[in-house]
Amino acid sequence: MSESELAARHRAVLPNWLALYYQEPIEIVRAQGRRVTDAEGRTYLDFFAGILTNAIGYDVAEISDAIRAQLDTGVLHTSTLYLIRKQVELAEQIAELSGIPDAKVFFTNSGTEANETALMLATQYRRSNQVLAMRNSYHGRAFATIGITGNRGWSASSLSPVKVSYVHGGYRYRDAFGSLSDADYIKACTEDLRDVLQTTTSGDVAALIAEPIQGVGGFNVPPDGLFAAFKEVLDEYGILLISDEVQTGWGRTGEHFWGIQAHGVTPDAMTFAKGLGNGLAIGGVVARGDVMDSITANSISTFGGNPVSTAGAKATLDYLLDNDLQGNAAKLGNHLIAGLRDLGERYDIVGDVRGKGLMIGVELVESGGKDPSPPNAAAVLEETRERGLLVGKGGLHNNVIRLAPPMTLTGEEADEALEILGASIAAAQEGTK
Ligand code: PMP
Repeated sequence: MSESELAARHRAVLPNWLALYYQEPIEIVRAQGRRVTDAEGRTYLDFFAGILTNAIGYDVAEISDAIRAQLDTGVLHTSTLYLIRKQVELAEQIAELSGIPDAKVFFTNSGTEANETALMLATQYRRSNQVLAMRNSYHGRAFATIGITGNRGWSASSLSPVKVSYVHGGYRYRDAFGSLSDADYIKACTEDLRDVLQTTTSGDVAALIAEPIQGVGGFNVPPDGLFAAFKEVLDEYGILLISDEVQTGWGRTGEHFWGIQAHGVTPDAMTFAKGLGNGLAIGGVVARGDVMDSITANSISTFGGNPVSTAGAKATLDYLLDNDLQGNAAKLGNHLIAGLRDLGERYDIVGDVRGKGLMIGVELVESGGKDPSPPNAAAVLEETRERGLLVGKGGLHNNVIRLAPPMTLTGEEADEALEILGASIAAAQEGTK
């Protein structure tokens, strides 16, 4: 069966809102290293890595062996009511890496569930259903997470039980204070936070939840120190800080293991998912012990922390640390950002190049101005695929190309991607004339 037939069947039986990439959607049937092959036999360099799920890349022996060893025991899963050795070991490792004092870990199957759990804990701990979130944020697609997501394109329901107020600081390129210096920007956003607390809440807010670098929102990097300034205000009120590290965790940003560390603050809780499983479904929350244990009734996730996921995740985390993939992300990230900024000088449909490590956004605009251009982003997406490169798209206006390759990327692959991106942006710019 061809990819186009499969796409037709997909559209008939899956929801309209589960959108597929590309005019002619692809089915990936094989993968190795940083490359994937589709059902028609075309191979692509993967610069989206399953929306950052593949931290390490494909078909990595150490990880496959760990998963296979677990499968060979016959225990795919029994129950989280029994001891699971790898779950305990992984929790110990993540608690230690978190830097959060007396940290405890709860495993889920996804980032959404992780954030739902963190919001449940924070609201319970503070006995308040008021939450602060960032404008243009994305935190998931369940009832509370969708309610705090600050992006109309992803806010499928407004009926959340959480009362949310939004603050500035997420999307600087198009923020009212965006053109200020870093220090003044931080000051303006912190004043806004104070104002929001005073004018839209009763003060007894449970938590501020934030992505250190917005993911779905277009890889937007706030100035370092923003969340430290926020934390001072939050501490005055006793409000918890939850860092959503679903995209920024595991060293992807290069300079730090967790995105929030760029701000020199320790959050009260962090949520994680995606890269930890290198393709397996796993997520979780790491939080201060007193926050984690603020619920007194029993709770459980049937599959969260199951033997197969935790075996794969433990092998992934060990591989990340043993091979200094954070260092590789920093080095190749700088190289890619420099190369893309060069392209930005040459093509005026490139409005902004930003990012940290291997989390890089290229915002496409109307030629010569700053107006967002979704068609130019769509054109770059198609052009790159034709030339053998998979990239992501996102942003409030759906006009940001997102680059997030596996962190095992090589210098040659980075250059190959830069060349394809250059040719694709040139073709897109040509097409808009
Ligand atoms: N938080 C962030 C920052 C995300 O980027 C995502 C997924 N894109 C989620 C939460 C939700 O994760 P999941 O899709 O695994 O539920």
